[in-house]
Amino acid sequence: MAKTVHIEACPVCEGKEFKTFLSCSDLSVSSEKFDICKCADCGFAFTQDFPAESEIGKYYESNDYVSHSDTHEGLINKLYHQVRKIALRGKAKTVERYSSAEASTLLDVGSATGYFLNEMCRCKWVVTGVEVSDGARAFAKQKFDLDTQDAEYLYKIKEGNKDVITMWHVLEHMEDLNKVMARLHRILKDDGIAVIALPNKDSYDAQAYGEYWAAYDVPRHLWHFSPDDFTRFATKHDFEVVAIKPMYFDSFYISMLSEKYKGTFCGSLVGLMKGGIYFLKNLANHRGSSSLTYILKKKK
Ligand SMILES: [Zn+2]
Repeated sequence: MAKTVHIEACPVCEGKEFKTFLSCSDLSVSSEKFDICKCADCGFAFTQDFPAESEIGKYYESNDYVSHSDTHEGLINKLYHQVRKIALRGKAKTVERYSSAEASTLLDVGSATGYFLNEMCRCKWVVTGVEVSDGARAFAKQKFDLDTQDAEYLYKIKEGNKDVITMWHVLEHMEDLNKVMARLHRILKDDGIAVIALPNKDSYDAQAYGEYWAAYDVPRHLWHFSPDDFTRFATKHDFEVVAIKPMYFDSFYISMLSEKYKGTFCGSLVGLMKGGIYFLKNLANHRGSSSLTYILKKKK
């Protein structure tokens, strides 16, 4: 019997009553079914009975998992890599706009293959990366000569040490949700910022695709936040949400992937067009975006 983690209390509000919100299949690797539950008290959603950290490795073994790979095959991947260049500039701009420190210390948690760290290095930031995958760390070393650290390192960093901590689509993968958030608060300087990007379960595309929404990505995504959920969670950890920024490109990427999962004929093209419609709707309403970046400051 595979070892799984059963959530007994809501990680946001400690509520103990849940309703099954969706039953989703792992559409990229295992085809196994997982339930997403919603807290009856606060509305936060999470993947129930997900594989324990010791077992989850095999659920990441997919050629499609482009966040951790560098393949250029297929329309979705080609588009992803082109867009990544523009998105990297956008991420650097967000950091530089909201940080009071100029080109100072930055920690990227879940630094993957190092593209974002490399971008920040070019902007003269002193960067550190933490990454759980040995392969991704080796890639970052080989391609960018970056010495990134393993997951344990997060708990070895001196308190009050970092001006900026970034997590780009990483927190939703981490089993120790509350422990990680408390740790971020401790290692951040008093006037530092945390920049956290997450899929948005209240987005237009999430509502339209339901169980096929690619950003549910069970069982790799454990936690499914809306802007209200994440604001409540950040407040609980003594952070103030100073801004919520849409990530426009994700609506295209997620729609294309969701259409593929649905088995739609010419799914990439249909996804691209629907992504365009969501993009336009997101211009009018940021909170409907597929993914959102939250800028957090420590509460005074
Ligand atoms: Zn709750």
